[in-house]
Amino acid sequence: MDTKDLRSFMRVYEEKSVNKAAKQLFITLFNLRTDEYGGSLENRLRFAREVVEEVKARCGKDFPVALRFSVKSMIKDWREGALPGEEFEEKGRDVEEGLEAAKLLVAYGYDALDTDVGTYDAWWWNHPPMYQEKGLFRTYCKMVKEVVDVPVLCAGRMDDPDMALASLENSDCDIVSLGRPLLADPDYVNKLRGGRQEEIRPCISCHEGCMGRIQEYSMINCAVNPQAARERVTAYEPILKDKKVMIVGGGVAGCEAARVLAVRGHKPELYEKGSRLGGNLLPGGAPEFKEDDIALARWYEVQLQKLNVPVRLKKEVTAEDVLNGGYDAVIVATGSTPKVFSLGDDAHTFTAAEVLMKEKDCGEHTVVIGGGLVGCETALWLAQHGKKVTVVEALDKILAVNGPLCHANKYMLERLIPYNGIEVVTGAKAKEYHDGILSVECADGERTIVCDSVILSVGYKEENALYHELEFKVPEIYLLGDAKKVSNIMYAIWDAFEVANHI
Ligand SMILES: Cc1cc2nc3c(=O)[nH]c(=O)nc-3n(C[C@H](O)[C@H](O)[C@H](O)COP(=O)(O)OP(=O)(O)OC[C@H]3O[C@@H](n4cnc5c(N)ncnc54)[C@H](O)[C@@H]3O)c2cc1C
Ligand code: SF4
Repeated sequence: MDTKDLRSFMRVYEEKSVNKAAKQLFITLFNLRTDEYGGSLENRLRFAREVVEEVKARCGKDFPVALRFSVKSMIKDWREGALPGEEFEEKGRDVEEGLEAAKLLVAYGYDALDTDVGTYDAWWWNHPPMYQEKGLFRTYCKMVKEVVDVPVLCAGRMDDPDMALASLENSDCDIVSLGRPLLADPDYVNKLRGGRQEEIRPCISCHEGCMGRIQEYSMINCAVNPQAARERVTAYEPILKDKKVMIVGGGVAGCEAARVLAVRGHKPELYEKGSRLGGNLLPGGAPEFKEDDIALARWYEVQLQKLNVPVRLKKEVTAEDVLNGGYDAVIVATGSTPKVFSLGDDAHTFTAAEVLMKEKDCGEHTVVIGGGLVGCETALWLAQHGKKVTVVEALDKILAVNGPLCHANKYMLERLIPYNGIEVVTGAKAKEYHDGILSVECADGERTIVCDSVILSVGYKEENALYHELEFKVPEIYLLGDAKKVSNIMYAIWDAFEVANHI
């Protein structure tokens, strides 16, 4: 089919005013039509049938056509999706009808079914964030595979090669389909084929650079791969002369800067005061559902090792070290420090990172002050580990600042909080904490909460003292990542890439 044919073919369907959101056209909750596109399952599948018939008519019977197809909708109610493990009455398409639909779609001529679950009312199924388990569609793919004789494709956090192989061997599916992992690392398949699995840059299921940017009408990119979808303009710049570059701070910003400099032929040296690389990826990746943050830290360790970048751990760099080091350029990527304040009982008041890194024990009942991303994820993790958790937030809702978060992540996390028994007190300010009692000022008066500890999660401030000590003493010096402006993994990596690619 040439482009002109394709355009006229698409127009035919637009002129027929058939709902382009075919997924919704299939579902009785949305499809209220009384013509030949509504009512019976066959009618609701008519659009999908016409598409495959038209493609085959124009391109030939042997032209393969696959359909991305949701076997179950996961809709609890109008614009209300279900959570994993939740008992609910399916208001959309249930598995029984999904399997009937699968058989009909194959009979209509589809050559493969790319199977998932969810719909636009349950975004976090079709676009699974880190809060969903890996390989979440496998069970459903297996059900479809048992009723059809065409290949079944399985996507949905299938980036773990061992899990993907096991799914093929277990006949859950015939083909493993990767989307986001290929944005994170377009060489995924070649690296796997070449036995270089540890070199695959992990997708962290954050949606920051892909779905999150599309939602803001920006271009699709990737948080962990600054070159994704803009390969030409971000190609590595050749260098005229190599430079000896000191990098202070082994978080993602420092690591990415070191990697890019080494790839380009410079001689970076990386200094980190902690005992391993990763910076805030380490507390951030402590919850089981954030395991890929730790995988990203590991990926940087492997990359820097392969690129022979000297990494000096447990070394807190001082201004003197920088000035006496004889470097051509210096990058300061010293990150951030958590904002803290005293409520009275400092011995039982911790930062989120201290609790996440298990440096402090929060006891059985804790209060997280601050309902941003870090506060909510910390609360969720603690609740999943059997703790009684209350979140106190000064604004009138949680996850209100530091966005925008991709809606798939935000909506799911917002719902996971009450689902996991976490109490949320909004419009409330923590005043004092003494003898296991936290006083909170709410709009309707003061309230007290009995708790073993308080966890402060009220934001971070730039750690840039070293940079300001040196900025007029070192001829070529750069400030990167959270040390420049507290943000997130994506902007720390992108910032580092930009600077390191132009030194
Ligand atoms: C608990 C938590 C959860 C988070 N979750 C997410 C998330 O889900 N998604 C997201 O996008 N972002 C998240 N973030 C934010 C994200 O982790 C940071 O924005 C990002 O990691 C910043 O990277 P960075 O390299 O600029 O700084 P950092 O990660 O802070 O790294 C700075 C490094 O510099 C080192 N250092 C400082 N001073 C010196 C010195 N003088 N000498 C040597 N070393 C020094 C520090 O030890 C540290 O390792 C989270 C943050 C936290 C704390
Ligand atoms: S932006 Fe995040 S979710 Fe999207 S591909 Fe990159 S790492 Fe994966």
